[in-house]
Amino acid sequence: MLDATMAPLVEVKNLKMYFPIHSGLLRRHTGDVKAVDDVSFHIMPGETLGLVGESGCGKSTVGRAILRLYEPTAGSVRIDGDEIPALAPHALRKKRPTMQMVFQDPQASLNPRMTVADIIGEPLEEHTTLSRDQKLARIYELMDQVGLNRAFANRYPYAFSGGQRQRIGIARALALNPKFIVCDEPIAALDVSIQAQVVNLLEDLQDRLGLTYLFISHDLSMVRHIADRVAVMYLGQIAEISPRDALYAQPLHPYAEALLSAVPEADPSGAQKQRIILKGDVPSPANPPKGCNFCTRCPRVMPVCREVEPKLIEAAPGRQVACHLINPL
Ligand code: SF4
Repeated sequence: MLDATMAPLVEVKNLKMYFPIHSGLLRRHTGDVKAVDDVSFHIMPGETLGLVGESGCGKSTVGRAILRLYEPTAGSVRIDGDEIPALAPHALRKKRPTMQMVFQDPQASLNPRMTVADIIGEPLEEHTTLSRDQKLARIYELMDQVGLNRAFANRYPYAFSGGQRQRIGIARALALNPKFIVCDEPIAALDVSIQAQVVNLLEDLQDRLGLTYLFISHDLSMVRHIADRVAVMYLGQIAEISPRDALYAQPLHPYAEALLSAVPEADPSGAQKQRIILKGDVPSPANPPKGCNFCTRCPRVMPVCREVEPKLIEAAPGRQVACHLINPL
């Protein structure tokens, strides 16, 4: 249960992550891919914020930049009181155990030459002074927590199914008792039949360990299941952030409306939502349109949208939207 009087565990303000473009013989800096462009949000302790959008919208880059797997170009990221972009290397190393990431592809993120015990125990090796026996006890405890059979501790990743490999990745992320975990498309590479099992495991661990999640996904049905609030991203920016139920019942931003119109609904009345098909392609983040970044595809575009960028402001209690329809000038 979230307590509104608590301070956020994660506060992101005006985060920018630009990747420079160099061209010509002299490799001059001629522009930037604006993968994340002025993104702000917060996450309360114990909360799950879903971050959704089409592939290439910058959502995974947000996850990597806030954990400083990329060096952010600008902006503030406070996690449990520490300003992450300002931490010196030794301070960042000390902070790492409290903020972890579960990656999309468990196959690619696990070293095939290490046993499961070595993979899960690697963070313990690096960050603790536990004895050999204490380490093994902790590895077994973590395997129990994620539903892996202890008898398999000395096997190698190839011997496991995709779902089991993701459990190994989750056990490793939990090894040092993190408070905050970025789950970057954690089920996208898994068979549909086991996706729900992994999501249920993440929910169960959150309840038991008081974890806070940023859950990045393009799977809007799964986000609806796990998230408390949802941020919708388009072309490096946030279009809308709303509590889950309010967003799925009535999205306020035209892009959120289009994205959610594609989600199958279990409506007892049998009423079908009208699917909104967006025309055109997503513009390049190296050359986003002037004004609203959605103006080239928005079914409700107005002249002002092509001139003035809408700001993300509160449109209803707890709901923030960046659109001139909601916030007329
Ligand atoms: Fe559409 Fe204009 Fe709103 Fe952008 S600001 S989402 S173009 S109506």
